[in-house]
Amino acid sequence: MPSQNVIIAGAGATGLTAALALAQAGCKVTVVGRHIAPPPTRTVALWGASVRMLENIGIWQEAGAFAEPLQAMRIIDATGSLFKLPPVEFRSAELGLPGFGFNITNADLVAVLLASVRADSRITLHEGLVREITLQSAAIEVECDDGTRHGAALLIGAEGSQSPSRRAAGIQQRQWQYPQVAVTAVLHHRCPHHHVSTEFHTRTGPCTLVPMLALPDVPYRSSLVWLMDPAEAARRVALPAGDFAIELENMTQSVLGAFTIEGQLGAFPMRGMLVERFGRNRTMLVGEAAHAFPPIGAQGLNLGLRDVAALVDIVSSALAGAQDCGSDAVMMNYHRARVSDVASRTLGVDVLNRSLLAPYLPVDFLRGAGLMALASIAPLRRAVMRAGLAPQALPQLMRSAAKASTVLTAPGAARNRQTFRH
Ligand SMILES: Cc1cc2nc3c(=O)[nH]c(=O)nc-3n(C[C@H](O)[C@H](O)[C@H](O)COP(=O)(O)OP(=O)(O)OC[C@H]3O[C@@H](n4cnc5c(N)ncnc54)[C@H](O)[C@@H]3O)c2cc1C
Repeated sequence: MPSQNVIIAGAGATGLTAALALAQAGCKVTVVGRHIAPPPTRTVALWGASVRMLENIGIWQEAGAFAEPLQAMRIIDATGSLFKLPPVEFRSAELGLPGFGFNITNADLVAVLLASVRADSRITLHEGLVREITLQSAAIEVECDDGTRHGAALLIGAEGSQSPSRRAAGIQQRQWQYPQVAVTAVLHHRCPHHHVSTEFHTRTGPCTLVPMLALPDVPYRSSLVWLMDPAEAARRVALPAGDFAIELENMTQSVLGAFTIEGQLGAFPMRGMLVERFGRNRTMLVGEAAHAFPPIGAQGLNLGLRDVAALVDIVSSALAGAQDCGSDAVMMNYHRARVSDVASRTLGVDVLNRSLLAPYLPVDFLRGAGLMALASIAPLRRAVMRAGLAPQALPQLMRSAAKASTVLTAPGAARNRQTFRH
């Protein structure tokens, strides 16, 4: 199988995962990216297919030691709507699974990926930023900010929202804003979370508590993602930590008891973005270079990892057929592989988010009827759970591990290993 050079622009979670997966698929990989540690308050819930992919590329065995299992999700209506709804709970056991996935800080995940990339002799890591990209007839050339140049058959744009690869490839995007800011924090709390993630639906968006790995002296920790209007976010972020903790405890109806805040709060303005093409001009876009939406249902990075898994399938079959992996036909195959999964998740999150923001009775009625149906119709609930975790047709890297898939089901490395399949 002939090897073809690939450049990956961006050393975040999607870029580093793409580097490891493509090197294992037989490509010669150069990563151009400067490591900027993600904010300590940001965590990602990764569903089973993503965990399996990270396991298949050999990093979950280490990253899993920093992750906390998620076994159930609970939605509590806190909109104050006339249609008062009972809480809805989704349990992984209903699907015959020991867990839905795991919650891990972005910083821990990226640190483990980066260490694996550094240790992989098939990958060259150029710690700089992409300055200019030039398309040639049979190659693409990237110039870094120190003047170094790299050439390849294919460029993977993984530089997040301001992607220079996207601009250079002439790929247009649709962008929009939400009147919301996500306030994030790491919380210590009095009561156990029982591996349940709890999402309060409020009039300004969801407020979600996601279980996190315990520390030796802190038995109960969770991460917070609280969507609220920008003025309220500015006020709350400026509060003394103790006052913020009291407002949060009131908001979350003391389900986890009193909170203390670990470190600083984070604040992220909410926006949406979707590209019109996922691949063009020897450039494939992955992760937030291609799509962005509010953190509802933990879809963003899971979708980004599916981009990576899909492009690995497509590049592998191009290599197997001795095809140019930067050709227009390969770009179109990648676009077709990603467009419906990404567009449907973007729309789903948008509709759910806007249904909370719109204070209209008919909208409340529809949302309430949907939640009531989920609470009472088990087959519907199971179908929604499966759809929320991943689409049915998965790329190769997200299917069963070559060897029996073992992931951690309890905090801490090498404790309680158990088979985990979706
Ligand atoms: C509050 C919040 C909570 C979230 N929770 C979840 C969750 O629970 N589950 C989930 O699946 N998703 C979640 N997400 C989404 C998830 O965090 C993102 O989808 C993911 O981090 C995007 O990763 P990325 O690698 O595509 O981009 P990024 O993380 O933005 O990485 C891009 C990298 O490219 C680098 N770069 C930028 N410009 C250049 C350049 N010119 N040259 C080279 N490199 C460059 C940057 O420095 C960075 O290292 C959440 C998002 C938010 C805001």
